[in-house]
Amino acid sequence: IKEENKNDYQIFKTSLTEGFKERLTMENELHKAIKNQDFELFFQPQIEMKSKKIIGLEALCRWNHPEKGLIPPKEFIPLSEKTGLIVELGDWVIREACRQNKLWQDLGLPKVKVSVNLSARQFLQRDLVRNIESILNETGLDPQYLELEITESMAMSNEQFIIETLKGFQQLGVNVALDDFGTGYSSLKYISQFPLSKLKIDRLFIQNRTEQNVAIVKTIIHLSHSLNLKVIAEGVENEEDLLFLNGENCDEVQGFYFSKPVPVKEVDLLFNKKLS
Ligand code: C2E
Ligand code: CA
Ligand code: CA
Ligand code: CA
Repeated sequence: IKEENKNDYQIFKTSLTEGFKERLTMENELHKAIKNQDFELFFQPQIEMKSKKIIGLEALCRWNHPEKGLIPPKEFIPLSEKTGLIVELGDWVIREACRQNKLWQDLGLPKVKVSVNLSARQFLQRDLVRNIESILNETGLDPQYLELEITESMAMSNEQFIIETLKGFQQLGVNVALDDFGTGYSSLKYISQFPLSKLKIDRLFIQNRTEQNVAIVKTIIHLSHSLNLKVIAEGVENEEDLLFLNGENCDEVQGFYFSKPVPVKEVDLLFNKKLS
């Protein structure tokens, strides 16, 4: 090996080790964070088009790191998923979202649903339905005020198990929305067989309104309504987005145009603000 190539290899090896160390450090820190409950939920309103009222709040997790401050989910959810820590973290998220929603209701805020994202690994937990049932019992939240968001990616594995789990939620009275719709392996067979209550159009289609994407949005809205499902669009950032979706009869909208995800202490303000 020539001297310079040897150096390249050395650099390569070092950076590999660095990456590995970094991952290990983060994994350790995540473990600690879960133990210390160093996480925080932010909430983003979901608005019903015809009443212009908030009917739901999506719970979005942030890691409140002692030195680094708030870390966005894309920086720790994938690793949590890979290491299995997502099961414990996800459990905390469901419990916290239910507890908080019940508290708001008891404080007299208008009753709305809280939507919680479920990761694939979490969804495949055998005792998920019973677990959620006991969280509802412990927090006292009426099941109709909890909604779960799942993605298409988990629909590919173990179809029968998924149907049974979804039926379990249906029996509990908990609604399920299919998130990021249109970006994964959508199969019309799944959508018609799964007991779902809502499709959530991915923001990709809303934000990049090419002729094709407009056609896709219209088709998803039609499809939802013919299957008796509600449809919500995410990533609504401006008035044009809203007018477009209103014209296409989309049931609900969510996005920066109304509000970014806000911390718990700012949620009551959302209900006083005039929404469009
Ligand atoms: P998602 O479920 O698709 O959540 C919507 C994301 O889009 C949120 O990012 C939200 O802040 C962002 N968003 C909302 N409105 C707009 C808009 O008008 N424009 C743009 N550009 N973005 C908008 P966030 O909070 O960073 O979350 C990213 C992803 O992390 C989520 O995507 C979800 O997949 C995941 N995630 C967040 N919290 C949890 C959790 O508790 N559990 C699991 N499993 N995943 C979570
Ligand atoms: Ca979501
Ligand atoms: Ca989404
Ligand atoms: Ca997404």
